Amino acid sequence: MTIQTATTKGVRGVYRPGSTHMVGDGFPVRNLFPSNELDEQLSPFLMLDYAGPQYFPPTDHPRGVGEHPHRGFETVTIVYQGRVAHRDSGGNAGVIGPGDVQWMTAASGVVHEELHEREWAKQGGTLQMIQLWVNLPAQFKMSPPRYQTILVHDIPAVALENDAGTLRVIAGQVGGAKGPALTFTPVELYDVRMRAGREAELMLPAGHHAGVFVLSGSVTLNGTTSVGEADLAVLDVDGDRTRLRAEGQDATILVMGGEPIREPIARYGPFVMNTRQELVQAVDDYRAGRMGHLS
Ligand code: MN
Repeated sequence: MTIQTATTKGVRGVYRPGSTHMVGDGFPVRNLFPSNELDEQLSPFLMLDYAGPQYFPPTDHPRGVGEHPHRGFETVTIVYQGRVAHRDSGGNAGVIGPGDVQWMTAASGVVHEELHEREWAKQGGTLQMIQLWVNLPAQFKMSPPRYQTILVHDIPAVALENDAGTLRVIAGQVGGAKGPALTFTPVELYDVRMRAGREAELMLPAGHHAGVFVLSGSVTLNGTTSVGEADLAVLDVDGDRTRLRAEGQDATILVMGGEPIREPIARYGPFVMNTRQELVQAVDDYRAGRMGHLS
């Protein structure tokens, strides 16, 4: 019988945003990947856009991104500041605010819009959010679309050791706390808030890809690697624990992990499939209205 001992999940690299652009007219994003070409190191994750923090003055015409399609993956939106409204061709709609998460499974295809919520836009305010794209394995790419609104009170919070802060489990499991998000492959997604000068150990499954994104503050990983504001650390596949220490000030951190999907990726804008032929089909289906329309 072999006894498995805990080993450190090391840091493969630390990345700055690889591009900065506007999504529609409401989401000024810093992109961590694919601009840094980390797809293979971070599968099942396909994209990380960090929007804001940016102040938007009051307006009667909510900004955002109008009707557009997706197929073959999931979009996961996490709001830290502001309020975002979503509406899609499946008849789903929802508003998410600070601490809330929207987990939208495009799968076979949806058309949706993502806008600043009308009443919030009228008041004006600071927007800060993350959108992650999570790939689906081939067998689920043409599944029916699904929509999960996960509100702040649905997400269990776990106290970190050493009074170091809290970890909210959006997806995955930490101790007895299970994240509410339903996923197609094993995924961990944790919203971590750490107190200045405190340190805690984080367990992540060996064999899973993993990344640590710092929204605010500065974090030292495993006592050696410094990760600053808007930096993404990519962790080793091997090992199952990483030490985090918040330096100087409190830190807000998004930890993502997941079992790699080892399949070919073909991507074209809002479509992510396995082959070029499937992309051609996706464009055809969208143009023919087969992904529906907003009513
Ligand atoms: Mn979208």
